[in-house]
Amino acid sequence: MSLSFVVALLVGSPAQAEDVHSYARLNQVSTPHLDLNLTVDFEARKLKGHATYTLARHDETTQLYLDTSDLTIERAELLVNDQWQPTKFTLGDVHPSLGRELIVDIGSVAKKVRIHYQTAPTASGLQWLTPEQTAGKQHPFMFSQSQPIHSRSWIPIQDSPALRLTYNATITTPKDLLAVMSADNSLSDERPGTYEFTMPQPIPPYLIAIAAGDLAIKSISDNVAVFAEQYILDDAAWEFADTPAMIETTEAMYGPYRWDRYDLLILPPSFPFGGMENPRLSFITPTVVAGDRSLVNLIAHELAHSWSGNLVTNASWRDLWINEGFTSYVENRIMEALFGERRANMELALGYQDLLGDLERLRPQDTVLNIDLGTRHPDDVFSQVPYVKGQLFLVYLEQKFGREMFDKFLRQYFDDFAFQSISTEQFKTYLKRELLDKKPNTVAMSKINEWLHEPGLPEDAPKPNSDAFAQVEQQMQRWLKGGQLQTDAWTTHEWLHFINNLPLDISANNMARLDREFSLTESQNSEIAHAWLKLAIVKKYEPARERLRSYLLTIGRNKLVSPLYRELAKTPDNLKWAREVYEQAKPGYHPLTQTVNEALLYGEN
Ligand SMILES: [Zn+2]
Repeated sequence: MSLSFVVALLVGSPAQAEDVHSYARLNQVSTPHLDLNLTVDFEARKLKGHATYTLARHDETTQLYLDTSDLTIERAELLVNDQWQPTKFTLGDVHPSLGRELIVDIGSVAKKVRIHYQTAPTASGLQWLTPEQTAGKQHPFMFSQSQPIHSRSWIPIQDSPALRLTYNATITTPKDLLAVMSADNSLSDERPGTYEFTMPQPIPPYLIAIAAGDLAIKSISDNVAVFAEQYILDDAAWEFADTPAMIETTEAMYGPYRWDRYDLLILPPSFPFGGMENPRLSFITPTVVAGDRSLVNLIAHELAHSWSGNLVTNASWRDLWINEGFTSYVENRIMEALFGERRANMELALGYQDLLGDLERLRPQDTVLNIDLGTRHPDDVFSQVPYVKGQLFLVYLEQKFGREMFDKFLRQYFDDFAFQSISTEQFKTYLKRELLDKKPNTVAMSKINEWLHEPGLPEDAPKPNSDAFAQVEQQMQRWLKGGQLQTDAWTTHEWLHFINNLPLDISANNMARLDREFSLTESQNSEIAHAWLKLAIVKKYEPARERLRSYLLTIGRNKLVSPLYRELAKTPDNLKWAREVYEQAKPGYHPLTQTVNEALLYGEN
């Protein structure tokens, strides 16, 4: 009997892991299918309509528990003998991070339940942009960001990644806009104002996604297209031209891509993340359209989630490393296969440096892979730990067991757990049987426990380095003594390593000299500009100040703006300036970006 059989018994009643971030009682009644019918109201900044769930009953309970946040629940209905009839519901108290539980009476025979509701303009999982906040300036734009627990702010739902559900949706928008979802998007340019979607593969609720805007479509290949505002459509299609090759590469290593099409949606600059792996339609920040394909590892990352995360999913947010550690590992393997070891090594080394920074900054208990979140909001603990420490754990296993054996293990892992959600404990059991026991005395279980349950990094953790970066460091030493930099062959990665590792006592003259020779203040590469502007704050390099202002006003990707605000908050003068810029920038920032940065600029620390 294979493990996949054991797990299959639990599908439909996924009670294996306790998810403290959801009120759903999945072991009593679960909701394997959703029919969504929503109207996008830009004037009111609301979604209005109803959600209909097919019920799967696992015991005698007569109540359905759903998660909500900031929703107005209008009424609830049950389908009994093909007739909709009203039913009672109650809302619980507001919890600061979990929202409110919605308890619906479902009796003992109803097959479906329907909730009529509307969202609030302040819904944490939606952003509403005025026409002025888009590039085209003609039409408004809205999009969702549901991970980790924001689905509940736009759908009353059993908002736990331990649930898997399929969905259909009917979405009504103003006539001149196109709606898209994490589903079977049409490639038609027509804008009828009503759109039908189907997502036939069961996904966790945080992967339900929607956007509506003045979108154009350009195909890259038979199964890959870019959806974007017209201004960036051609550039994005050029930037991401390697996506079909990435899919083939990943399939060769880890088995078939199981989601039919893979399309990319380029969001407005306020999108708070680099990317979001919404199935069939990754949501992507425009800040990686760099003009030189140097930041496409982000596409490799979102694509990799089609195996790790979307196909095999963390059962709770304590297990986030199961999504992100595997995905960072697969991302780097895709980059290596397509672009060579040199580039892959540089990207791994850059990630490692970021991780070391986080390990220094975070409390020890927050550097554990199988983190104990309590009921803290999972947004508050996103760091490099689940990503890069998780990745290093897998690199470690690869080195110990050899690539051939480890690749075979991973390929089997994706097959055995396809379309399932698993916990860290389940992974450990599987790892022991399918890898450790097959080559005894290679890695002890105590070492696995150290990786998964102890803070920081084990003594013998891999320490990624890069020959290319060693050469950058040699050049830097010569340059600091007055020599010339030879940067013709440098890519974005070498520049980032160079800027991030400049000595903090670098002279004002040397800052000005660098800027004169390489126009770093004016760099249009979002990552290089970020690294330079951050150094400029530390070094009080005033010529970069206006660029810093415009950068903060035009980019909303939290990873790029938040470290700048954090640095600015360290001195009273800079803090005052940063608050002024922030207030101006705020309407263009996503609610998540607002929350994080207000804590930095107005918090008590
Ligand atoms: Zn990811």
